[in-house]
Amino acid sequence: MDKTKFILDEKDMPTRWYNILPDLPEPLPPVLHPGTGKPVTPDDMAPLFPMDIVMQEFSPERYIDIPEEVQAIYRIWRPTVLHRAYRLEKALDTPAKIFYKYEGTSPAGSHKPNTAVAQAYYNKKAGVKRLATETGAGQWGSALALGCMYFGLECKVYMVKVSYNQKPYRRIMMETWGAKCVASPSTDTKAGREILSKDPNSPGSLGIAISEAVEDAVTTKNTKYSIGSVANHVLLHQTVIGQETKKQMEMAGFYPDIIVGCIGGGSNFAGMFLPFVKDKIERKKPNLRIICVEPQSCPSLTKGIYAYDFGDTVGMTPLFKMFTLGHTFMPPPVHAGGLRYHGMAPIICHLYRLGLVEAQAVPQVATFEAGVTFARTEGFVSAPETNHAIRVTIDEALKCKQSGESKVILLAHSGHGYFDMAAYESYLSNKLQDYDYPETEVKKALASLPKVPGA
Ligand SMILES: *Cc1c(COP(=O)(O)O)cnc(C)c1O
Repeated sequence: MDKTKFILDEKDMPTRWYNILPDLPEPLPPVLHPGTGKPVTPDDMAPLFPMDIVMQEFSPERYIDIPEEVQAIYRIWRPTVLHRAYRLEKALDTPAKIFYKYEGTSPAGSHKPNTAVAQAYYNKKAGVKRLATETGAGQWGSALALGCMYFGLECKVYMVKVSYNQKPYRRIMMETWGAKCVASPSTDTKAGREILSKDPNSPGSLGIAISEAVEDAVTTKNTKYSIGSVANHVLLHQTVIGQETKKQMEMAGFYPDIIVGCIGGGSNFAGMFLPFVKDKIERKKPNLRIICVEPQSCPSLTKGIYAYDFGDTVGMTPLFKMFTLGHTFMPPPVHAGGLRYHGMAPIICHLYRLGLVEAQAVPQVATFEAGVTFARTEGFVSAPETNHAIRVTIDEALKCKQSGESKVILLAHSGHGYFDMAAYESYLSNKLQDYDYPETEVKKALASLPKVPGA
């Protein structure tokens, strides 16, 4: 009998994170200081992050040991399971072999705790007492609340006001783990008060919430800031996913022809594919295809331009070289809140430009159709973000049906959709809509890209 799932022993969990930086065929463009146009130094980052994290952001080491304290927490739900999607294959009547690595079994229900736990640990080790962060729909906020709970840190989450009011369950989850969560803009910061004085009914935005969290971190004693995606160190922490999967694919006796994942800031999918892209860079697997899937309404890689831009909407962060739709771009309100980001992880952008990964944009309704097919075959109800990756997995499997090829497709399954029932309801009652690519809005936003001093 062929196996349905591939389970690693706790002792086979990775003990090191894989850092792609030394293996890149060309070095990553530096992050720039917006005032001087000079590369950002570790000292510039020190007010926001503990030094261990700062050093990981720039590290030339191929492998970085995972501290035993972090491994002990990972072991509560890791290694996660790699599944073979027999029922999905059968329903599609495809000769393709579909595998999925499921990150929905973490306590917060996604991959995000892989970095939240590590960040909480390094802050604790540096004597930090409290972390501040922002969250949109609440996935990152709940993951950091969990990480802080494990290491006895206080946690303050600035949650975008519309989500705070519309989606109370993630907030209650954060509070259950002991975090404080306020609607942003809040009266707790100068940035929040200024916005409220101009517009008391401001619905908030991720950019405003970032401004509040950063201000909190730099003005409050013993407090630092924490980020849930995009940054090199976040992608690094997520590589436990891909390293486990490599071993599990070996157990299954296959190597993927195609790896598919969704990208918001890029952390879950990079965590999956970075250990595999190494094989492609080393020309051991030159034909491996890695497909990054993004929403048609927020298509950073497929429609953005490769330029220096701010990481946030307000323009407080350093400048990152990335495919961007412009930091002032406000994506349409698709349900996949985790994919509504104007930019993309610099590491993914660099690999995309080098032709080592590809990208596809998909419309919202088709992603839910795929998610429901997945739920009605494999059973798992997936996050709206993950549904983007499921869409392309199914499309590739159907291409195999056409061609008769029995390709091995590996899906990075980033999390469950249990807090997204309203979105499923909207799909099931035919109320869900697609949003066209907002071309004029993107043009406007791209016109306000920052000028890089000296460039
Ligand atoms: C946050 C989130 C994403 C998008 O973030 P990445 O950094 O691109 O991984 C995708 N899926 C789920 C379930 C998420 O919570």
